[in-house]
Amino acid sequence: MKYYILSHRSVHKGQSGEGMGSTYDLSNACKSCGTGAVLIGKLYTKGLKNATNDCLYTLDGDNIISKKLYETIIKNGAIVNDVSLVSDGKGQELPLFCVNPKLSFPRMQPFSQGLTIEGQCPVCKQNDFFNDVIIGNLEKGIQTYIVPLKFHYNGVDSNFLNQSDIFHTWECMGLSNIKAEGNRVIRYARPLLIVSERIKEVFENFKIKKVLFDEITICNGPVELQ
Ligand SMILES: [Zn+2]
Repeated sequence: MKYYILSHRSVHKGQSGEGMGSTYDLSNACKSCGTGAVLIGKLYTKGLKNATNDCLYTLDGDNIISKKLYETIIKNGAIVNDVSLVSDGKGQELPLFCVNPKLSFPRMQPFSQGLTIEGQCPVCKQNDFFNDVIIGNLEKGIQTYIVPLKFHYNGVDSNFLNQSDIFHTWECMGLSNIKAEGNRVIRYARPLLIVSERIKEVFENFKIKKVLFDEITICNGPVELQ
């Protein structure tokens, strides 16, 4: 089985999460910055009521899929451990799910490529990862280039992988603020998603546009992966 980092290149849409009154469990999160906070209960959102996409990312970095896509994934035999219900600001349930995996991969190998770090929390060193971008030059006709993700993992065995077809990365994208101060609002950096080829196939059958799948490498597990 192959595994991929799922990333979105379309315009992000709607608000979600911390600022909308969603609840987070901070018991295993970094005490200094809040990275590692886990969404519990519904994901409260704004601006998604008329969403017609089968897959979208909110402005706050939550990955949302339609009920139709979710049901097809399940029908195809994938294990989705887990998703959360999505509501509008008034608590009205929407036909959407927030992909909210319960399992996270370990830290990627240091020779992995595609992410850069800026101003990271010195306690957890788990947030403030960003896509590595090589800025182009319009005058010289050089386009901006997003470095492809090449993530390598060690010691991820089949017992772990068999529990789900979706996982979080250990690394979390962007800023975390555990406390609102000045113009800084509460925000928990979001991990990336790792999905199996079962999930990738369903996305491709749905012809979902502007979604990228970068294959990851898993080596030296105790069991040879098929
Ligand atoms: Zn931290």
